[in-house]
This record gives sequence, C-alpha cells and structure tokens, in this order.
Amino acid sequence: MTTIRLTNTKTRRKEAFTPIDPANVRLYVCGPTVYDRAHLGNGRPVVVFDVLFRLLRHVYGPDHVTYVRNFTDVDDKINAAAQARKAAGDPRSLEELIRARTDETIRWYHEDMDALGALRPTHEPRATEWIGAMIAMIEDLVAKGHAYEREGHVLFRVRSYRDYGALSGRSVDDMIAGARVEVAPFKEDPMDFVLWKPSDDELPGWESPWGRGRPGWHIECSAMSYELLGASFDIHAGGIDLQFPHHENEIAQSCCAHPEGGFANVWMHNEMLLVNGKKMSKSLGNFFTIHDLRKDRGIPGEVIRMVLLGTHYSKPMDWTAEKAAQAKATLWKWRKLTADVEPAASPDAAVLAALADDLNTPAAITRLHSIAAQEDGALLKASASLLGLLEDDLRGWTLPPVTGTGSGVMEVSGSATAIVGNVQYRETIERLLDERKQARMGKDFRRSDAIRDLLVGAGVIIKDTPAGAEWDLGADFDPARLGEPE
Ligand SMILES: [Zn+2]
Repeated sequence: MTTIRLTNTKTRRKEAFTPIDPANVRLYVCGPTVYDRAHLGNGRPVVVFDVLFRLLRHVYGPDHVTYVRNFTDVDDKINAAAQARKAAGDPRSLEELIRARTDETIRWYHEDMDALGALRPTHEPRATEWIGAMIAMIEDLVAKGHAYEREGHVLFRVRSYRDYGALSGRSVDDMIAGARVEVAPFKEDPMDFVLWKPSDDELPGWESPWGRGRPGWHIECSAMSYELLGASFDIHAGGIDLQFPHHENEIAQSCCAHPEGGFANVWMHNEMLLVNGKKMSKSLGNFFTIHDLRKDRGIPGEVIRMVLLGTHYSKPMDWTAEKAAQAKATLWKWRKLTADVEPAASPDAAVLAALADDLNTPAAITRLHSIAAQEDGALLKASASLLGLLEDDLRGWTLPPVTGTGSGVMEVSGSATAIVGNVQYRETIERLLDERKQARMGKDFRRSDAIRDLLVGAGVIIKDTPAGAEWDLGADFDPARLGEPE
C-alpha cells in the first residue's frame, strides 16, 4: 500500500500517515461562513484538500473515507446582511431573510466548487441544524469547570486547559500580547472566548439553559466533528488564517469535553493566496470571487484549479493572469489528447508518489507534462484524475453552441469530446482555408489575408507547410467569430 506522508502542523514534521481505522479514514475541513460569494482565497483549501480526499480514496478505497466540511450559517455577518435587507424594505421576516440568504449562498458555493472540480464531501453539516449538540457540549464544559456563565454569555476558561497554544507553538501570554482580544467586563481573563451569546428579539436565537441565544463560531466545528467523526479522528485541515484562534479554540473545547479522545491526529494548513504578489483586497482592486473569474473573465473552473495546484499548499500562492493563460493552453492541449480516450487502469507511479509526498502537486503536474509529451493520453487521463483534472465532465469550460444555431456562447456539460469541436467546425475551417488558397492562386492577397485574419481571430492556429496549410484549434477558439470575411 502507498505510504502517504503529510506535514503535521501539530508536530511541525513530515510524518508517515497511519489512519486510526483504515476502513474509515476521517477528515474534517473548516467550511465557509455563508453570507457572500466565495472568493479565490476560499477556493484554495477546497481544491488542496479535495486532492487529499482523492488521494485517500485512491489509497484506502472510495468507500473508506469520510470527509466532513461544515457550513457556518449562523454568524454576525449573516445577521447584518439580513438586517440591511430588512431595513431596505424587504417585507420578509428576519429569519426568512437569513434562511434565504444562506440557502442562496450555499447554492452559489456548490456551483463554484463543483466547477473547480471539487468532489462533494460525505457530510456538509449546517451549523443551525446541530445547535442541540453544541448546547450539550457547552453544558458538559461548564460541568467540568472549563466554562462559565456571565450575563447570558458562556465563556471558555482558557487557563483551565494547560496545552492551549500548542498547535501554534505559542504561550497564552504571548498570544495575549499579539492578539486583538476582545476585552469584556464579564470575562475572567481577556483570553477567554465565547461559546454562547445572548440574542435579542431582532436576532436569530435558540432556547438554552442560559436563555435565548446563539453559539459562538468555534464550538460549531467541535460539536459537528464530534457528532460525525467521533472524539478522535485522523486529519483536521483548513487555511493558515484559522490556526489561531479558531483551531486552538476547537482543540481546547474538544479535548476538554472529550478527554478520552485525542481530537485530530494530524493538522494541515494551507498558506495564503496572493494576487499579483499582494494580499487580495477590495481596496487594491485585486479582489476576485470565483464567480467573477468564471463568468466575467471566462476562465474555466478547471483552469483555476490547475493554477491553484501549481504551487505547493505550504507556500503562499500567487495568482497572475499569465499563470491562468498558461494553464488554459496546457489543459486545452491535454483535453484534446485525452478526448475519447479510455483512462489507463492505474495512474502513473511517479504522479502518485508526488502526491503521497505531502501533496506535492507541482511535482505531479511536472510529471503530467512529460506524460503528455509522450502523447500517452490513457496514462495522462488516469493520472490527472488523481488531481481532479481532465475528468469526463467539462469542469466549466465555456463552449459555443454545438449546433451553431444560436449566437454567443453557452455553457454545455457533456463529454470531453465536445471540447475538441473539430468535427463540428472542420468543414467551415477547411472551406475557408480552401478559399484562401484559391485567393492566393488568383493573387487576391487582400482576400487571402482577410480570411487568414478571420481564422486567427476566431482562435484557429494556422501553420503553412510545403504540403499545404495545417490547422488546429487554440484554447481561445470561438466559432461565433467564424463568420464570413469581407
Ligand atoms: Zn473549524
């Protein structure tokens, strides 16, 4: 069996991965707070840990991996968005507005992440459906002396957990000095964090032993991972920005509520995402949602995925338009090489070895390039699939209407063959090339150049050889532009 080695944030070492139960390998990844469209930075952990999910499924069997990724659908930002809509005159109740907003955002999220080629996790629990489990865990923490109630709030007593800070390797005092901790008069200690807070009538709330209120963010993951994966499981992952305080707080809650378990054995964190070398921000004008890139800029989800996987997860990843263009051209070539090809029975050993070595996706992609150079479409397809690339559905490539009856472009989902498109457009392209030849022979160079410009403008690559013109479709091929030359 392939040995997977992973860098464990907890031990700061690359370790051979040994699951607690190889028949049920368990993975938890912190999911999104659903109040707006996912941005490019949100896509990185989804794609990186999707590769991990695929690798685990390959090694242990697709039925032997349980992957949980939550939706945080109770949050102050969600409430604020709903309150703003209500203030703007929306007649619906606040609860209806919140539910509508979170339902819609989850739909968008699925649409975007499906386009990035991410497999759906085994379970996608919504926080609001697990409030009872959260209340039970908080009650347990209070009973064990790790939490206390003050003025309708329940707070976790950080000093009651000796190992607090072990994940990030910092002491509580260092963290107080470095962090922006919310000072509140009812806290015993500034580091103590909220497990439960009161809700007034204007906010969503649930009845609890501490009055009507709502859970804090950190308790959600602790309660849902316990319910779905147990007190000990294999891997907990998320973005580096979650390491402190979110993951430290999850560990404190889970290990204090369930001292019989070890919570997660392996912790993995992906580094941040940059755009043109800078942190993505709305004020710098380099802020993209995945939807912007797919719809407004016409970048297929598969291309976004390939760019994200081009950098090792442990390093900051810099998104540039050049990388996207390069990935687009590469995937187009590979798509053509693998269209109508049955994948080989097993992936290339070197691609598998690269991924098993701490998810070395850049090395795996380099190896895919050499398989493509040998024109081994079957092996390329089987190996790329481990990275979630070149799969049968189109992964967000935008294609022209197949019949040519409509105008403009539409998104089609169908077999990879459609992407090649040669068959549908061969006739038109070859007729135009033939007309160009006739024009040249008749020394009508204005016309032959016009035909050439038309073809090139539509994304057709023309190579003149002594035997005549050869052509190919470029990644930007758009048959809508294959009109008649003047
Ligand atoms: Zn979490």
